[in-house]
Amino acid sequence: DTIGQNLARAVAAWPDRDALVDVAAGTRWTYAEFGAAVEQLARGFLGLGVAKGDRVGIWAVNCAEWVLVQYATARIGAIMVNINPAYRAHELEYVLNQSGVSVLVATQAHKSSDYRALVDEVRPRCPELRAVHYIADGSWDALLDAATSVEPAELAAREAELSCDDPVNIQYTSGTTGFAKGATLSHHNILNNGYWVGRTVGYTEQDRVCLPVPFYHCFGMVMGNLGATSHGACIVIPAPSFDAVATLHAVERERCTSLYGVPTMFIAELNLADFATYDLSSLRTGIMAGSPCPVEVMKRVVAEMHMAEVSICYGMTETSPVSLQTRRDDDLERRTGTVGRVLPHIEVKVIDPATGVTLPRGASGELCTRGYSVMLGYWNEPERTSEVIDAGRWMHTGDLAVMREDGYVQIVGRIKDMIIKGGENIYPREIEEFLYGHPKVADVQVVGVPDERYGEVPLACVIVRDPDDVLTLEELQAYCKGQLAHYKIPAALRILEAFPMTVSGKVRKIELRERYGE
Ligand code: ATP
Ligand code: MG
Repeated sequence: DTIGQNLARAVAAWPDRDALVDVAAGTRWTYAEFGAAVEQLARGFLGLGVAKGDRVGIWAVNCAEWVLVQYATARIGAIMVNINPAYRAHELEYVLNQSGVSVLVATQAHKSSDYRALVDEVRPRCPELRAVHYIADGSWDALLDAATSVEPAELAAREAELSCDDPVNIQYTSGTTGFAKGATLSHHNILNNGYWVGRTVGYTEQDRVCLPVPFYHCFGMVMGNLGATSHGACIVIPAPSFDAVATLHAVERERCTSLYGVPTMFIAELNLADFATYDLSSLRTGIMAGSPCPVEVMKRVVAEMHMAEVSICYGMTETSPVSLQTRRDDDLERRTGTVGRVLPHIEVKVIDPATGVTLPRGASGELCTRGYSVMLGYWNEPERTSEVIDAGRWMHTGDLAVMREDGYVQIVGRIKDMIIKGGENIYPREIEEFLYGHPKVADVQVVGVPDERYGEVPLACVIVRDPDDVLTLEELQAYCKGQLAHYKIPAALRILEAFPMTVSGKVRKIELRERYGE
C-alpha cells in the first residue's frame, strides 16, 4: 500500500471512529471527516501545481494541519520535508535549499518564535521556494480553495501513478551529534514501520494515542500518526509543543489509552507537583524512546501511570525509525531493562566496528540493521549515504549494543559519547543509570571532558529533585565508591537547572562538553 491507500482502508473500515483530536484548538475529526479533509487539501496542492516528487516543506509546531499535510502530500506523491521548529534562519535556509522545497506550509508564530519573520528573512536566498502558506491565515484558506479547480478524477489519476517505493518524506535527523542529515524515506519504509510499531503495542480502533512528541520527528509522524491510523486508532494532540500539564490533561479528558514520550517528558510529568491528581486510569500502554530510557523512570511509568504495557522502542530516523521494541507480554526486567528484540522483517547484528566481524551474543559492539526499514539514502548526499549503508545494505547505527542470549538488546551508548579515561572505556549510560538511584538526583547526564593527566574524565551534570537540595561532588563520589569501578566515578560535578535539548527531546551532550570542557 501507499500511505493514501492505507488511509482509504481505515476510512472505509472505521468511518465513524475518531481519527484526530487537537485539544488546544478544540477541533476533532472522525475517519470519514479526516479522509475528506485530506482529500480537499490534496486537491488544493494539485490546484497549485504541485507535481509528483516536488518537495513540500512543513515548518510547524504540532497541530491538526500538520497531520493533514502529511497525508495530503503522500496522496499526491509529493515529498514532504519536515523541518525542525527550533531552527532559525541559517538552518532553515540550509534545509529549504538542500532539499529544494518549492511550497512551504508554516506556523505563523509560537511562543517567542516568529516564523513569518524568519521565512521573510531567508526567502530572497531560496530561489526554488515559490509559495508559502501559513496555518490559520488567509493563505491556508487559499490552499484549500484551490481544490475547487481540481476534479476528483485528477487526484485519482495522480494516485494511480504512485508506487509504494516512491520517496514520500525527507526527515532530518535530530542533530544530536552534529548537523542534521536528510533521510529520504519511501511509503514502504515508514508505513510498514508505523504499522508494526502499532501492532506490537496492540492498537485497535479502540485506542486513543496521546502525542506530546513533535510531529517533525519520526517519533511523532511515523510511530505516532502512521502507527495510529494504520490500525484505526485516534491521534490526540495535547498541545503545540511539549507541556507536561497539557499532556496529562489531554490523557484525562480524552481517555487516552496510550502515551508517548522521550524519557525527559515522562520525568517532567512524573515530577509535577499535582501529578497524583490526574486520572490516568484509561492508559494501558505507550512508548518511551529516542534516548536511553532509565530503568527507574520506566518502573515509575509502569507503577504510577497505569502503563503496565509501556513499550521501549529503539530506532533512528534513517531506519524509519524502529528496529527493536519490547513486547506486550514482556516481564518487568525485559520491559524496563532492554530495548526489546527485533521487529518482524528486520535483521539486526552486532559487529566489531574495527573489523566488521559479527560478534557473538553477549558481546558489545556496533549495532547494524537491515530490511524494509532502511532509508533510500540521505537526500542528494550519496557519499554520506555510503558511509552508513554498506554494500550489503546494512545500516551502521553508530550505537553500541549487546544482544543477550535471549535475543533482547541493550543499548550501551553512542560510539561518539564514549569516554576514554587513561585507556579505560567508559560508557556514560552506565554511570547515569547508577546515579538515577541517588535520592537527590532528578535527572543526570555524564559527558567526557578533557583532562591533562587522563586525556578525558567523566563530568556529571545533575538536575536536583528539590531546588533546595545541596549536592556536592564529595557526596556524589562517596555514593559511587565501592559501587562503581574507580575510573568511572565522576571527577567533576555541575548542578544545572536544565539541559540543552534538541526539539525531539534529546540532550545535546556535545553542547555540555563544549560548555563545561574547562
Ligand atoms: P544525529 O544523527 O543528527 O546526530 P540523532 O541520532 O539523535 O541525531 P535520531 O535519528 O532522531 O537523531 O535518533 C536516533 C538515535 O537516538 C539512535 O542512534 C540512538 O543513539 C538514540 N536512541 C533512540 N532510541 C533509543 C533508545 N531506546 N535507547 C537508547 N538510545 C536510543
Ligand atoms: Mg543519528
